[in-house]
Amino acid sequence: MNQINFDAIPLAPEHCVTGFGTTIIVAPHADDESLGCGGLISLLRKFGQTVYILLLSDGTLSHPNSAEYPAGKLRDLRERELLDAAAVLGVPDENIIFCRYPDRGVPSKGDERFESAVASIAKTIDIIKPQSIFVPWRRDPHPDHKAAFQIIDAIAPSMAKIYEYPIWLKELGEEGDMPADGEPMPFRLNISSVLSVKQDAISRHRSQTTNLIHDDPAGFQLSQEMLDGFNVPYETFFMSK
Ligand SMILES: [Zn+2]
Repeated sequence: MNQINFDAIPLAPEHCVTGFGTTIIVAPHADDESLGCGGLISLLRKFGQTVYILLLSDGTLSHPNSAEYPAGKLRDLRERELLDAAAVLGVPDENIIFCRYPDRGVPSKGDERFESAVASIAKTIDIIKPQSIFVPWRRDPHPDHKAAFQIIDAIAPSMAKIYEYPIWLKELGEEGDMPADGEPMPFRLNISSVLSVKQDAISRHRSQTTNLIHDDPAGFQLSQEMLDGFNVPYETFFMSK
């Protein structure tokens, strides 16, 4: 397997985040922002940069059979959890944008809703005028993560540099999911000074990290093993263009 040795990727010091400027974090699900970019977001805020979080999905498929948390209530809960996590990371409520595409149904290339999603998100990007956009790795093993990349790639905003972040690549990625020659180069960001803040933000997603919703045996929960994978003093990103 063409496995990346994540520990051998060059490590950038925390102050390099000042070069990212105003930043949009594109999160397919409430928790991706903290898992993949919690350290980055906290450092951006520490160095006075403006951060927006764009949440794509409504998150209603994490516990599809819960009677206590039917879809509308689950969506509200997950949006609340994102606001809580963002507050921990230093991002105010007014900088969070909810797109509410269906969970596992974020429009991807070929989907009839793709062009309208691209147009709508392009409009938001045009208003914010970010210098940097962080979106999941193009072949991260989840359909909504791939769709998120496809939307931003189709917009190709001229004013912003695109960075990609892996979520499930290391754990679930297959050989073809890894970066190939000529594709974006990885770098790691040293987040050791804010790792505890990142962990606090992740824990605010209680519906995903605890058995808060206990009436759906098919419900999703981040295992301790999965969480341990994110409890490291660096975050990995791929520089797209
Ligand atoms: Zn996700």
